[in-house]
Amino acid sequence: MHEKLLDVIPHLEVAHWAAVVDFKYKDIENLPDSSLDIGFVEGCSRTDEDVHLLKILRKKAKAVVAFGTCSSFGGVYGMCNTYDIEEAKKRKFLTADSVVEGTIPSVNVPDFEPFIVPNDEIVPVDLHIWGCPPITDNIVRIVAGVIEHGFDTVVNIIVEHGEEYLLTEVLGFPAKTQCDECEREREEKKLTEIKRDFEGISDPEKCLLEQSYICMGPATRAGCGVQCPNAGVPCVGCWGPAPNVRDQGAKMISALASISKDIDPDTLLKMVPDAVGTFYRFYLAKSLIPRRVGEQVVKEA
Ligand code: SF4
Ligand code: SF4
Repeated sequence: MHEKLLDVIPHLEVAHWAAVVDFKYKDIENLPDSSLDIGFVEGCSRTDEDVHLLKILRKKAKAVVAFGTCSSFGGVYGMCNTYDIEEAKKRKFLTADSVVEGTIPSVNVPDFEPFIVPNDEIVPVDLHIWGCPPITDNIVRIVAGVIEHGFDTVVNIIVEHGEEYLLTEVLGFPAKTQCDECEREREEKKLTEIKRDFEGISDPEKCLLEQSYICMGPATRAGCGVQCPNAGVPCVGCWGPAPNVRDQGAKMISALASISKDIDPDTLLKMVPDAVGTFYRFYLAKSLIPRRVGEQVVKEA
């Protein structure tokens, strides 16, 4: 949160902040239930220890906030759901190119969960703060909004009208797509090829998608200030699905298909060598098909 934290920290009483102070788990386990106003949870639940802590936090806090894209959707870790956990462990600890004489740790370590499941499918989550990472202005807007309106009022708004209403109508987050806020010039989109991000030099004024770069703007929620297209690179979708979009990757595939009618579907597929990493980089665990089903075909090196 940078130095803007200094504006809000005097209004908060911090009961547990593992990244900053050496609290022990028993410190939070011993708290009376519902004795914390807000519990922020960062990251996804990869291990049984993560799940345990998430459940404890849910018991101790009146409201739980998923902080960031991993916490909200599973994030990039969700792509591990294309493996089963035994294959994933072998890949990470034994066969990855960077591993030398690896071993799979088994002593004094928590067990892995079989798949990444979004935190809000493990316990109820009251509010999500998107972004990888969330940007300072938006964190401050939410924390300051809770302070300004009062914790009980904010909780009542969520209960009565839902999280989306709180974020857009009360706190002023845009209910739009990235494209709605992007100032790059757009004409009629009609693709004849797909380029990887590193191919060619893009025109700084024109829509990146129209220049054949897969920009997730049409399927992604606005709110980050269109940071990536403004910096010359396509949006990869870290804010998750746009309002009223159930599956971010499916929406983007649909958008792409509608502007690529002149490309044979098989050819189009070959132009996107990493479909999961392209369309579901942050959202796979929350998507309509959130994990591998059936047998995986493992290619021999
Ligand atoms: S696709 Fe990307 S570059 Fe094009 S308008 Fe949308 S956000 Fe901007
Ligand atoms: S432009 Fe897209 S990838 Fe970049 S920060 Fe915003 S939502 Fe995330």
